[in-house]
Amino acid sequence: MLKAAEFSQTLSESRVGCLLCPAECKLGEGQVGICGCRFNQDGKLMTSNYGELVTLAVDPIEKKPLYHFYPTADILSTGPNGCNFSCVNCQNWQISQCKIETAYWSPEELADAANRDGSIGIAFTYTEPLIWYEYIMDVAPLLKANGQKVVLVSNGYVSPRPLEKLIGVMDAINIDLKSMRPDFYRRICKGELAPVLDNIRAIAESNVHMELTNLVIPTMNDSEEDLKQLIDFVASLSDMIPLHFSAYHPDYKLELPPTPIDTMLKARELARRKLKFVYLGNVHIPGCANTICPACKRLLVSRDGYQTRIEGLNGSKCADCGEETAIVV
Ligand code: SF4
Repeated sequence: MLKAAEFSQTLSESRVGCLLCPAECKLGEGQVGICGCRFNQDGKLMTSNYGELVTLAVDPIEKKPLYHFYPTADILSTGPNGCNFSCVNCQNWQISQCKIETAYWSPEELADAANRDGSIGIAFTYTEPLIWYEYIMDVAPLLKANGQKVVLVSNGYVSPRPLEKLIGVMDAINIDLKSMRPDFYRRICKGELAPVLDNIRAIAESNVHMELTNLVIPTMNDSEEDLKQLIDFVASLSDMIPLHFSAYHPDYKLELPPTPIDTMLKARELARRKLKFVYLGNVHIPGCANTICPACKRLLVSRDGYQTRIEGLNGSKCADCGEETAIVV
């Protein structure tokens, strides 16, 4: 569905700029931005993806991944067709990098659906939901009115003004922090690192629950120096932020061998020196997704695949020693 896009800038009678994300595309008549959905129609910035869903499914919240936000809950999940990055290793490239058929759901229809099937709300996820800004901002108040949660899973590549608005409506966000190297973002994602770091800082200072994910790719961001830099950045914000290391598998245009288990374990060992909650995903290592009390080491939440059980929580605290975990329950 076509809709006027926000964060536009008139550059001339026929040229328009998009200020939604740091790519800041400047578009002549008929031209489409990098994300494939915002375009110039008669000198006006429009979006073609409003309410257009690539898929809709009820997922465990752990799949986002969010481990410290209503563990064991299910959440209705959806996303748009497209992305403002073009990562060569994209694991959802069929729906983020290619045009595919979508289905229109009005904000009211989507919010109503979230009220069914025991979902706690909506997760905007799968591709890059930031390019769905107008739709998210219309759906979010409907969810809030029903007492439901609004969740975003994102690359974090958005400009400060829209981020501020999004922070105002979000309950939880998972940001994919891909590397601490600017050249990684330029070469692999065709984007910039600095805005992503600024946005993570801004979310960390807000009331929105945040978790971070890092896809560990052999030879590209898995050196001890790379991992330590990323861990130090997260620790500089708070040692309570859950950090998920996710194992890479060959996909799309990148054909490297999968991330070795030893590399994943090394990442966890390094991170645990500075952070209280570190998880490994996309690998099956017994215990690697469990939440352990940082003080007394009691098992708080067990996870095996998507089988999650609360084992030792009293509210957000360890049931044994009372240590605060900040898990939202
Ligand atoms: S949202 Fe899309 S059109 Fe707008 S600046 Fe980013 S990539 Fe370009």
